[in-house]
This record gives sequence, C-alpha cells and structure tokens, in this order.
Amino acid sequence: MIKLYITRILLTLLVATLLIGCRVRVVTQADHKLVLPSARVETRDEPSSAELAQPTQVVVLGTGTPIPDAFRAGSSIAVVHRGESYLFDVGAGAIRQATIARYKYDIPSLYPSQICCVFLSHLHSDHTMDLSELAHTLWWRRQAGVRAWGPTGIARIANGLDEIIATDANFRINGIQPVANPNGFRMDHQTIAPGILLRKDDLVIEAFLVNHGDINPAFGFKVTTNDLSLVISGDTAYSEVIAEKARGVDLLFHEVISRQGLEQNSAGFQAYHNSVHTTSDELARVAAIAQPEKLVLYHGLFYGTEESTVLDEIQALYDGEVVLANDLDIFTAE
Ligand SMILES: [Zn+2]
Ligand SMILES: [Zn+2]
Repeated sequence: MIKLYITRILLTLLVATLLIGCRVRVVTQADHKLVLPSARVETRDEPSSAELAQPTQVVVLGTGTPIPDAFRAGSSIAVVHRGESYLFDVGAGAIRQATIARYKYDIPSLYPSQICCVFLSHLHSDHTMDLSELAHTLWWRRQAGVRAWGPTGIARIANGLDEIIATDANFRINGIQPVANPNGFRMDHQTIAPGILLRKDDLVIEAFLVNHGDINPAFGFKVTTNDLSLVISGDTAYSEVIAEKARGVDLLFHEVISRQGLEQNSAGFQAYHNSVHTTSDELARVAAIAQPEKLVLYHGLFYGTEESTVLDEIQALYDGEVVLANDLDIFTAE
C-alpha cells in the first residue's frame, strides 16, 4: 500500500516536472472544428472577460514567401494577448487566414476590422501585400484605423493606401450609409527604430536590427508577456543578434532556406539568397546558441524540394525541438 502511494507521488512529481519544462502547448488543428457562420458583421467595443482571461496565443496566419503557394499565405504571425491581436507582417492572403482563425479558434480580435495593430519587419512586398485588406476591410465599422509600425518608407505606403481607398471612402462618407469614423480607413503609422515599440499591461514588443543584406533597415521582433516569450526573425541572413535575443525563449520563429533548395537556383540567386536569408545549416547554429524551447520554421524557401528536407537538414545538426509551421497552426501558453 505504502509502495503504491510512493509510486503515485513519484509519478505525480515526474508529470509536474515535465509540465514545468514544457510551457508552450501546440494545439493540433484537428482538435478544432471549423464552423463558419455566413457573413457576419462583428463589432466590439472592448474585449470580453473571457478574452481577457485567455493565456497568450500565437496564431500562424501565413508561412509563405514571394513564391505563390496554394497552401501558404504570405508571411504573417499573430500574437493574441488580453483580447487584442498584434500582427507581425501581413503578406498576401494573411487577412483571409485571420478570418478563418477567428472562427476556428474563437478569437474575436482576429476578425479583420477588429485587428488593432501590425508590425512590419521590412518593406518587401511579401510582408506587406495584405495591408490594404487589413486597413480597408469594413473600414466604415472601425472605431479607429489600424495602427502600423514599420521601417522608413511606411509613410509612403500609408499615403498609397489612402489613394487606393479614396474613391470608396468618398462614396461612403458622402453617401447615406452610416460610417462609425470617417477616418476609419486611415492607417495610423509610426516609423520604427530599434528598441521598445509598445508596452501594454504585461505585453512588451521590442524591435531589433537584423541583417537582410542590402534591404536596410530590416527588423526582428521580441515579444514577451506574463506567460510567453517569442522572437520573430523577419527576413534575415545568419545573425547572432537573433541568437542572443532568442536565448531561452519559448518560441523562436525563424525564416529558412533549404540548403538543397538553394542549390536549385542560378548562381546569381544563390549569391543573393546567401546574403539575405539563413540557410538550414546556419539556422542550426543560431538555434544551438539560442536554445529556444521550440524552433518554429516559417517563410521557408524550398525551391521545389520536399518540404521535409529542410527539417531533416536542421535536425541533422541540431538536437532541440524543431517544427515546420503550417498556416493556421496555433501555439498557446500553458
Ligand atoms: Zn525580405
Ligand atoms: Zn520575405
């Protein structure tokens, strides 16, 4: 009897130790049934108490690259914290994925006109193409325009977005339809420099410079909350800055180019990719320094090789946990 009791205590301790060592839960997509309502207008003055009580969630909206991919939207990662969604980049198709994620995971702040904020790592089009979708979808229901942080050049993009929507805005503002805020379509933008960009409650968002070759400046981001820490590389060549920023984080989202995929390219593109992206073997070195709880690959350049090849290449050199993200994957703090 005593032996059984001790065994139970030991088992409980073992489970507790494992749980303490594992702070991030990967919820499989199959655990969630997708029930889509027919077109529903959603408005919300403030987050519900249920949203405020949720642990931090990270929803991968898009894992793609400039290369059209039937299964991967353009680059975009959403951090959902205390009833607000903070997007990091917003590549083509990301806002469509946000609409799906809103229902799949019951996250009201991912309804497009409820998304408050977007942080742009750099201004390559595969990271910005859905800005119009984000800023303009149901803009007349927005109490405030979307807030955007991005490198030098963001003001020019904001002016361009205003031009894109000017005719529509004119119709709606001067017609008979109700408009919540006549400036709801305007993207409120800020040019970023390295350092803390936003502090809200226990959320801190920090930008740091990365090396994206001649695309300068380009930023990576570190996000910390009360229950989760993550680093998002953006587009970068091998960088020990990222390894330092990501030391011991729960999640390191990092771009990658498969070594085998790289070799499918012309000499000119191989030289270009080598100077602006991180090859799988280089990423294994970054991860070995950073030792994140989970290394999550996104923005993978495969160039026609099997997607699993890039995982094999990294796992041959790095023995920590590595996952290749798919669109709509979700990670939740315990
Ligand atoms: Zn880029
Ligand atoms: Zn890119």
